[in-house]
Amino acid sequence: WFGPRNLGVRLGRLCGGLLGPANTRHRSLTTCIDRSGSDAASLLTSAKRQGDHYILNGSKAFISGGGESDIYIVMCRTGGPGPKGISCIVVEKGTPGLSFGKKEKKVGWNSQPTRAVIFEDCAVPVAHRIGSEGQGFLIAMKGLNGGRINIASCSLGAAHASIILTRDHLKVRKQFGAPLANNQYLQFQLANMATRLVASRLIVRSAAVALQEEQEDAVALCSMAKFFATEECFAICNQALQMHGGYGYLKDYAVQQYMRDSRVHQILEGSNEVMRMLISRSLLQE
Ligand SMILES: Cc1cc2nc3c(=O)[nH]c(=O)nc-3n(C[C@H](O)[C@H](O)[C@H](O)COP(=O)(O)OP(=O)(O)OC[C@H]3O[C@@H](n4cnc5c(N)ncnc54)[C@H](O)[C@@H]3O)c2cc1C
Repeated sequence: WFGPRNLGVRLGRLCGGLLGPANTRHRSLTTCIDRSGSDAASLLTSAKRQGDHYILNGSKAFISGGGESDIYIVMCRTGGPGPKGISCIVVEKGTPGLSFGKKEKKVGWNSQPTRAVIFEDCAVPVAHRIGSEGQGFLIAMKGLNGGRINIASCSLGAAHASIILTRDHLKVRKQFGAPLANNQYLQFQLANMATRLVASRLIVRSAAVALQEEQEDAVALCSMAKFFATEECFAICNQALQMHGGYGYLKDYAVQQYMRDSRVHQILEGSNEVMRMLISRSLLQE
């Protein structure tokens, strides 16, 4: 995911070294792009070289694992504006000048703490740079392709679990003198949900194969998989809540959590609007 093979090896070695020996490797790693949002190439966090260190200044909103992770893979500006001025630097928790914002209160996805990551004159050894200066954007974009498969897969899991819960609920809950499962409208809805889930799974799998085999259309396929699967699976979770009736709206029933948790998948790892931009760019370039 991190570009040419030697970059991946280097990242593995560097982070492995910082994380400690394999048998104590319970520490975690997170990626920080910037508060620039959808226009990632416009990021502002700066890294100015002073001798054998970079001095980082800036902040990054919405960082998953922020404050909890031990290692931060930071995209920052070592050069001029645009993607070619961006480099990738690894920062260890505890480095002076690295701090965190408050834990954000989110609609869902609460197993993943989210905080701003702040750099104030944060000095990091030049040896912590991954790749050469100016390669950071490329590294981030390569990582994001795999990240998109990951997020789409999270959506698949939520949709799958929602369908199972709904099937079981329809069998147990009785209305109009019969289990809800006897109602043809609800049977058809269940069939729609299962079909949408299988279609989502297939597109995610074919994008994963394209990425692994480094196929030419891998970026477009990963973008399609992320946007299609996260939208279809959210719709499945939402429909599952509906089919639970009032119980679906109670926190005692897990179905509401799948709906809340999967909503963010349409926003992060590049919003679904950005996915459409990448897909159409690839089509128009042909
Ligand atoms: C819970 C959570 C965890 C996150 N974790 C991380 C993390 O670990 N690391 C990290 O780097 N980032 C993380 N993010 C940030 C995430 O990647 C951004 O929120 C996302 O890229 C969207 O950027 P933004 O929020 O600034 O929205 P904006 O860029 O302000 O966009 C707002 C809306 O406008 C749309 N839009 C923007 N530009 C266009 C355009 N040109 N055409 C059409 N529509 C457009 C967007 O799609 C969106 O719907 C996380 C976000 C959340 C909510």
